[in-house]
Amino acid sequence: MARIPFNKPFIVGKELYNIAQAVINGWLAGDGRFTAACHRLLEERYGIPKALLTHSCTAALEMTALLCEVGPGDEVIMPSYTFVSTANAFVLRGAQPRFVDIRPDTLNLDENLIEDAINEHTKVIVPVHYAGVGCEMDTIMTLAGKHGLYVVEDAAQALGAKYRGRYLGTFGELGCFSFHETKNLISGEGGALAVNSSELEEKAEILRQKGTNRAEFLRGEVDKYTWVAVGSSFLPSEIVAAFLLAQLENEEMINTKRMALWRTYHEALADLEEEGCLGRPRWPQHCSPNAHLYYILTADSDERQALIKHLAERDIVAVFHYVPLHSSPMGQRMGYRAGDLPVTEEMSARILRLPLYYELTESEVLRVTEAIREFYRG
Ligand SMILES: *Cc1c(COP(=O)(O)O)cnc(C)c1O
Repeated sequence: MARIPFNKPFIVGKELYNIAQAVINGWLAGDGRFTAACHRLLEERYGIPKALLTHSCTAALEMTALLCEVGPGDEVIMPSYTFVSTANAFVLRGAQPRFVDIRPDTLNLDENLIEDAINEHTKVIVPVHYAGVGCEMDTIMTLAGKHGLYVVEDAAQALGAKYRGRYLGTFGELGCFSFHETKNLISGEGGALAVNSSELEEKAEILRQKGTNRAEFLRGEVDKYTWVAVGSSFLPSEIVAAFLLAQLENEEMINTKRMALWRTYHEALADLEEEGCLGRPRWPQHCSPNAHLYYILTADSDERQALIKHLAERDIVAVFHYVPLHSSPMGQRMGYRAGDLPVTEEMSARILRLPLYYELTESEVLRVTEAIREFYRG
């Protein structure tokens, strides 16, 4: 039987054709025809006021730290249960992450713990929509309004997912998406910034284009471009945008397939959850997730290790993340200690992610669930 990897990059159709087209167009730098087409599609489909492609979600997050003008002395509220880029983007500017515990059902920021973490240094709240399940945006937006804070959504995993009928990434002033090869839609490395506040639009364009007004120049609004503010290069090449456009155009097909695979996992593992062997993902009724990842919760980390080994012996690769940021070497240097965030610590020790990618088949999903069944029932 063939090995089932954890993830597998894929193409769906016109990716390579589009890249050839970009070469023929004679425009391989950023912000050409393909980038513009991706921007238009992101804006129209997801209701994003202004979308800007970046070379990664990490880059989009770094842009948000610059746009919110955080610096030394500022605090940024975020979960510890997240990818390092969520924190690094702000730490790079000299700000301090203020880690808040997560909910045991969604593994998202616990909205009831946020207000206690707000003080006079707080500048931004960063909800991370884990597995494409929305954080409690009603509560978070209300708190941010009350205390005059920015909201930056780390929607790296959440493109296409909704909260109360509205797409994630469009609630905060800024939202960040990823097209890394492990996400639903891919371009190898890649990302996008959603600028949802009109006050930040021009600033974001300038920042992304090396601190120049090149975007205005390309639109014919000025006759030359020059250095107008601090900036850097956050834009991807047309080669990346050409690849991405083919994926964006096939979003429905890709996510429909992922959703079917996700449901197969969920249904096939229902009885094991009922018997108390494992936990399955849960999400509130008003959230519409995007089948970004499928995970189970084991009893503890020893059981997880044994299950990973059991699956590996059957040529199935299952992995876990994240090492909580507060208990990492960097987090400890910031003064955090193991025990500070009990739900984060428990969940990160129990979670196991199962293979889920576009080319996975229903029968392979069932091979995985049968192997899990065998593990628990012997
Ligand atoms: C994938 C991911 C990122 C980083 O995305 P890149 O495009 O690889 O930079 C950031 N935050 C979360 C929650 C992610 O899952």
